[in-house]
Amino acid sequence: MSNPLYDTLFGRHAGSDRTFLRFSDGSTLTYGVFLETAARIAHVLVARGLEPGDRMAVQVEKSPEMLALYAGAAQAGVIFLPLNTGYTAGELDYFVENSGAKLLVCDSAKRGTLAPMAERLGAGIDTHDADGSGSLMDSAASQSTTFETVSRSADDLAAFLYTSGTTGRSKGAMLTQTNLLSNAETLAAHWRFTDEDVLIHALPIFHTHGLFVATNVTLVAGGELVFLPKFDLDAILEAMPRATAMMGVPTFYTRLLDDERFTKDVASNMRLFVSGSAPLLAETHKRFEERTGHRILERYGMTETNMNTSNPYDGERRAGTVGFPLPGVELKICDPETGDEVPQGEVGQIEVRGPNVFKGYWQMPEKTAAELREDGFFITGDLGQIDEDGYVSIVGRNKDLIISGGYNIYPKEVEMVLDDQDGVLESAVIGVPHPDFGETVLGVIVPDPGAEPDLDAMMAACSEALARFKHPRKLVLQEELPRNTMGKVQKAALRERYAETFSG
Ligand code: ATP
Ligand code: MG
Repeated sequence: MSNPLYDTLFGRHAGSDRTFLRFSDGSTLTYGVFLETAARIAHVLVARGLEPGDRMAVQVEKSPEMLALYAGAAQAGVIFLPLNTGYTAGELDYFVENSGAKLLVCDSAKRGTLAPMAERLGAGIDTHDADGSGSLMDSAASQSTTFETVSRSADDLAAFLYTSGTTGRSKGAMLTQTNLLSNAETLAAHWRFTDEDVLIHALPIFHTHGLFVATNVTLVAGGELVFLPKFDLDAILEAMPRATAMMGVPTFYTRLLDDERFTKDVASNMRLFVSGSAPLLAETHKRFEERTGHRILERYGMTETNMNTSNPYDGERRAGTVGFPLPGVELKICDPETGDEVPQGEVGQIEVRGPNVFKGYWQMPEKTAAELREDGFFITGDLGQIDEDGYVSIVGRNKDLIISGGYNIYPKEVEMVLDDQDGVLESAVIGVPHPDFGETVLGVIVPDPGAEPDLDAMMAACSEALARFKHPRKLVLQEELPRNTMGKVQKAALRERYAETFSG
């Protein structure tokens, strides 16, 4: 009987007195106690009629119970389907229906709102809060603390993870045990995780970054998580002197830098800061190193593949790049039209193959066939290039590519010029419809706090730095860019907002 996912991440810590989670009030939870809860949950899942291969959708605030649901599902062979806690009842409808989830677990406060939808879709509904109302956790309390792990093979599905929906409707990526395990083990080795590590965890756990990277890597190594419900500057600064590592999105690092209590001294016990999910600005890299002496390690991944690349642990962490393909991952840069590899150094679409690559999109055979080649390469939709030393950089998304009068324009190239100008905090460059050129370039500028950037001077700077066809036809000021919870700029929303600038 074996279940590689459960055995590797969880089973071998059974009975351990080591700390798994530490909370901001100073309390802790050991691996041993955590796994007893997971076993109790596994019993309840069986009692609720879930069979191996059934889906359990979980929309639960970040909590130890949420992780215990993950472990309990793994032990019972149930497919775990974490959902963004920000989704409304209307949005949830799609995920529950699309996934065919047999059970939806939510916070008790949401039960009333979600129950009619669950009923209509034929899914059970349960809550994770132990509130004496017969919730899943209430039922779990009376169960045995041991559960005979359901046998699963490495090729069996372990999780459905819906993509962030940055470029369109979210897609359910089917992930096998191998997908999750190969990545967790590779990253733990690559980033040198041991049971001495204490990782500051302030990310959401419904997303690949917080769950399948930060949590799984710690589980593989048997380390400790400083488990914070969300990004909380005070709690992070308090935890850091005894922590060793942190994983975050770029905004975590800029927010730390904006606080003068974040000093070299505070970070002196830390050995690793990792950034991902969105591009880290070279400026942030530089300020971080000047302040702390640490170089942030940037890596690149996605829902469908977990992590693809990482900057080296030893060796140069090159700003503006996401490093090298991880061991076991093949990465190539291809012409988006023909699929042929482009010459070294040129921009093209990133394709990846390896044990980390998902099995396809649930119930989307056409989309799966279009993005997952027969030879196993996944067409990521990201544009990138590889420099002479093999470092990969992300240039943007294929869907954000601007084609103006037949010329290809990579927004990032223009954004880099704009970001460099006085008074500019950041910028987003998009293509908007234009009667003559099909599309033309529009730059959205977010000024530094209190600054009034000179738009004419910025246009002049673009003329100097860029070929004529790349010049923004218009620059607009906006207080901030629309972002999702993972800090990704939502360019589709910007395109919609400015769609009629030239054609309306
Ligand atoms: P959807 O596929 O539904 O449009 P999404 O692609 O934003 O949403 P995710 O899988 O959460 O959903 O995000 C993965 C994407 O995030 C990558 O394809 C890439 O565009 C971006 N990304 C991740 N890490 C980095 C990084 N270090 N630098 C730049 N972009 C990154
Ligand atoms: Mg995507």
